[in-house]
Amino acid sequence: MSGGGQGGDSLPALFLVGSVQFEVADRGPGKPGKMVRDVRMRGFAERTDVEVVDAYLVAESAPRSAEEVALLECVGRVLAEDIEAAVDVPGFPRSAMDGYALRGEETFGASDYDPIAFELIGTTLPGTPFPGCVAAGQAVRIMTGAPLPDGADAVVMAEVCREDAAAMKVEISEAVAPHKNVGAVGEDIRRGDGVLRKGRRLRAQDAGLLSSIGIAHVRCVRRPRVRLVVTGDELLPAGSRPTGARIVDSNSVVLRALVARDGAQLLPFEILPDDPARIREAMADPDADVVLVSGGSSVGQEDHAPRLLAELGQVVFHGISMRPSSPTGVGRIDERFVFLLPGNPVSCLAAYEFFAGPTLRRLGGRSRAWPHRQARLPLARKIASAIGRTDYVRVAIEDGRAVPLATSGASILSSTVRAGGAVIVPREQEGMAEGALVDVLLYDEEAAPEETPARADGESS
Ligand code: AMP
Ligand code: MG
Repeated sequence: MSGGGQGGDSLPALFLVGSVQFEVADRGPGKPGKMVRDVRMRGFAERTDVEVVDAYLVAESAPRSAEEVALLECVGRVLAEDIEAAVDVPGFPRSAMDGYALRGEETFGASDYDPIAFELIGTTLPGTPFPGCVAAGQAVRIMTGAPLPDGADAVVMAEVCREDAAAMKVEISEAVAPHKNVGAVGEDIRRGDGVLRKGRRLRAQDAGLLSSIGIAHVRCVRRPRVRLVVTGDELLPAGSRPTGARIVDSNSVVLRALVARDGAQLLPFEILPDDPARIREAMADPDADVVLVSGGSSVGQEDHAPRLLAELGQVVFHGISMRPSSPTGVGRIDERFVFLLPGNPVSCLAAYEFFAGPTLRRLGGRSRAWPHRQARLPLARKIASAIGRTDYVRVAIEDGRAVPLATSGASILSSTVRAGGAVIVPREQEGMAEGALVDVLLYDEEAAPEETPARADGESS
């Protein structure tokens, strides 16, 4: 079918997702079917709204199944189970200071002028407990992290003590209350505590916490597997020098990085010529959850991908009301999602960001939302668009203003390099006025140095 906007004979099912209507064929997901019309060298009769494609993808995608992941591999992965602590951390009362363990109440009244002497009966080290018991008038030398010996209930820090090792004595010149400088059992984590919830994208410190409660493996959402199908007779592999009428593939380089950003796994691939048999075979890769076809998705005579997709599965949408990326297609082969991304580098990038990226994130258990940081900035110049079309406009950021880049051609990859981010002009807007506040999707992940928030002081080592 060409576009999903109007119902043809093969489009009986009508779905409502949010406020957006869309239709899908009744053949079931990804079952082979014929395209209503071969669009090659004719162009699109109609285009589908971005929101309709998006709503279809929302309705059709769900997180993949779970798999065991080793603790050391789990950072960045999405947890597929709730985690409860089976142990207390620490599991023993623990000194928070280097000093002397004793009975706190026996230090009451101690001062510089009137120190209290204790009998020094041994040492306790981290991992090596003192074997005996501390009785009245006794103290044990203790290091940070060492278990508090039986009989003691507090630690006096070394700075207010004077040890006479030869005489086996220590003088204390400051009182400590019972429990002072001692970490209680379960102070960090209590047995039975729910520590991490299903759906959490694991951070470095989460992995550390899992380690501290003795966990070696966790169940995480399986990362979606992506097959890249990079097509074009004119393409040389990345790392080549462009020569004659040939250009060097940049789309796979961009897509590889975006796929990694979105937590998916890239399957091995190679650049393919515009040869239908080879493209067909690659698109049918049974190992993939998602197939990204770069190039050959439009209406040129060498654009085989839409027809091949229709043979192998189903073209759900082809031709989208957006700029760039209007020749984008979306379809299914069985349960797999297939995105036909235009070959023009900016179109390829935008089509990925609008459709493939959110789907990959969703399949991997992440939020579908655009992962960019955003800034609300005034527009330095107006942006012209058209009602009914969604635009992805690159903007430079200068003096705190968003400057739309004049070079908006879909083939001008350098526009995305000069830009600091992109502004999306929604379908219902004719454009955006100079001075209007717009939300810029920032290309840089980290805040610029001047944006870094001031550090809040207050915690010790
Ligand atoms: P196509 O979508 O195949 O019609 O290609 C549109 C334009 O994008 C053509 O100028 C292609 O040479 C160019 N193009 C296609 N694939 C790539 C690629 N992988 N890297 C860079 N440019 C490409
Ligand atoms: Mg091509």
